[in-house]
Amino acid sequence: MSARIPLWLASQGLYVFPLRPGSKFPFSSCNRCRARNGNEPNPLYVPHKPTGCQCIADGRLCHGLYAATINRDLITSRWERTPDAGIAVTCGPSNTIVLDVDNHDSEHPADGVYVRGERIDGAGFVNGYDTFAALCELRGVNLPWVEHPTLTVRTPSGGLQAWYRVPDGHQWRQGNGVKSGLGWQIDIKAGASFGILPGTRTSKGAYEPLGDTRTIAELPEWLRRELVRAGRWIDPNPRRTTGYQPNMRHARTSSRYVTKAIENELAVLAAAQPGALSETLNKCSYAIGRFVGARLVSESEAQEAITAAAAAAGISPDERKAQSTIRHGLTAGSRNPRTIGAAR
Ligand SMILES: [Zn+2]
Ligand SMILES: [Zn+2]
Repeated sequence: MSARIPLWLASQGLYVFPLRPGSKFPFSSCNRCRARNGNEPNPLYVPHKPTGCQCIADGRLCHGLYAATINRDLITSRWERTPDAGIAVTCGPSNTIVLDVDNHDSEHPADGVYVRGERIDGAGFVNGYDTFAALCELRGVNLPWVEHPTLTVRTPSGGLQAWYRVPDGHQWRQGNGVKSGLGWQIDIKAGASFGILPGTRTSKGAYEPLGDTRTIAELPEWLRRELVRAGRWIDPNPRRTTGYQPNMRHARTSSRYVTKAIENELAVLAAAQPGALSETLNKCSYAIGRFVGARLVSESEAQEAITAAAAAAGISPDERKAQSTIRHGLTAGSRNPRTIGAAR
């Protein structure tokens, strides 16, 4: 391997860095930049942030993915020094995100949730391809790497990584699986995470291109919405406070403590960021539903208060999906009544 592939990637605006030959990991940082030696703390480490580190300014391979560059001279010299180094791209500065579809044995979700907020029967699923196909079917779309051909990589384990461009790479965050990715065995690489490119070979095999497309397509709009819904996008201009003040004092709650606890939940919801809105709405409704279940506040008062807090966060009171989220959350929470005194 030579610098040919990394130089070609850099010409597309992708920030590349080398991986240790035969592995999928970056080179170690220098003594000053390395917090640990294996499991032991490194006594020579000088705590600092990778951004602004002098080593990186000097072209050294410290801080892993932060050493990525589009500087052609630096790339050439790095791969001249280690011609068999693997090739990685850091997502954030490259304005890219990666859909990372896994193919490995892993436990099915114990709660039966394969994509957050959706009912999908995944009992027969084998891997992330099944989750992705189910999500696409649910949204009435084709598989994105088929419908919007883009640079797509087959990993040695048989997984798939489809690269997409975003205009604001630093605003995105990586996430894994059902919890913070798109679903069971679907991870997202973004921001301060990296993807591995063809030209890389590890002990498990080679990373190979899939299909004929070698350029990176724009992120399809439906996927952008899915990723925002999954909380992967961070708003650079969070909304100013709206002046919303939760007020449960007139509600017939049983105590000042309950009033305060509910108001706290409402305040968190009212301040939620767009990317985290539906999750926060769900959590808030569940938390307050526990008070409803304990008969410490009425369901109608709870629903009204949550709707008002959601409106402060930008969710219209007329939005049926939101109202249904609130009802479901309240019902689920009321099945697990809050025991005052025992809790907290
Ligand atoms: Zn260093
Ligand atoms: Zn450093």
